[in-house]
Amino acid sequence: MSCFTSKYQDELIANAAYIGTPGKGILAADESTGTIGKRLSSINVENIEENRRNLRELLFTTPGALECLSGVILFEETLYQKTSNGKPFVDVMKEGKVLPGIKVDKGTVQLPGTNGETTTQGLDGLAERCKKYYAAGARFAKWRAVLKIGPNEPSQLAINENANGLARYAVICQENGLVPIVEPEILIDGSHSIDKCADVTERVLSACYKALTDHHVLLEGTLLKPNMVTPGSDAPKVAPEVIAEYTVRALQRTVPAAVPAIVFLSGGQSEEEASLNLNAMNKLKGKKPWSLSFSFGRALQQSTLKAWAGKEENVPKAKKAFFARCKANSQATLGTYKGNAHLGEGASESLHVKDYKY
Ligand code: 13P
Repeated sequence: MSCFTSKYQDELIANAAYIGTPGKGILAADESTGTIGKRLSSINVENIEENRRNLRELLFTTPGALECLSGVILFEETLYQKTSNGKPFVDVMKEGKVLPGIKVDKGTVQLPGTNGETTTQGLDGLAERCKKYYAAGARFAKWRAVLKIGPNEPSQLAINENANGLARYAVICQENGLVPIVEPEILIDGSHSIDKCADVTERVLSACYKALTDHHVLLEGTLLKPNMVTPGSDAPKVAPEVIAEYTVRALQRTVPAAVPAIVFLSGGQSEEEASLNLNAMNKLKGKKPWSLSFSFGRALQQSTLKAWAGKEENVPKAKKAFFARCKANSQATLGTYKGNAHLGEGASESLHVKDYKY
């Protein structure tokens, strides 16, 4: 079985490898207008374009932050926005050697005959959108497929539908120059054990790689964004070392060595938990042919959001909080994070949102 070749092949491989550079990771700042609205309303800030732009400018212009990052995922609106001084965000990233990425999925739709399971939409017109985003400077893309753990979930239908959707999306991105982030997120919701999460994660990832291969995707030009293997949100917690062992084993069993990097989502873990868990994985000895890094949304932004509270005078304090999380996660990719970051307000609080929509 050979993968397809495109004029972008060398570029895809180089960009995917760059994103996986040890010491760097991804900021997921691609919350849809609805999702960012919920985050802004938690700090009593109105969900208008200027406030969304202000928040993103604060993140992208934090001193030292871009050095800890190799990519930033954007929502379409942000791809075309500028700083208050008129510099396109895309240029800010270019100067900081950070690749702009773009969320391309269009939300989910229910799978009839299942217990509320979903599949992701957005394949129609995707090739044209990828071309447009590439021309605007984007070099990678994200598509989130959501699965859940229940008595009979995920169903085989949900696993297959989502794996095929991810594979179709991935090959369309590659044909148009964007490195696809393949994100099959198994929600943390529930009281299941870590063993159950490991079992489901292995089944889901195996199905994804079968589909990616069947669709002739160039694995060297992709990234995987999975959940960490953890107990459910309503089950007792376990130590980072246990999460590390279960997660790395699930990945060893399912993710080909051709994949350059695995960039985890935070999935409702607190900022500090997510950093400590990633650090434990990178400290763990054993076979790890891919780099293990982050693509956090909530776990990079929560204490920043709280420190900012939408007020201009709080911007320096908020930037300090954001840099602290970027640095902690950069160190966690090297296994050198000592858990000693300055903990901003909210850094230890659970960020779990039931049935989370992005
Ligand atoms: P969280 O890190 O907040 O789970 O979000 C990451 C993401 O991009 C989900 O698609």
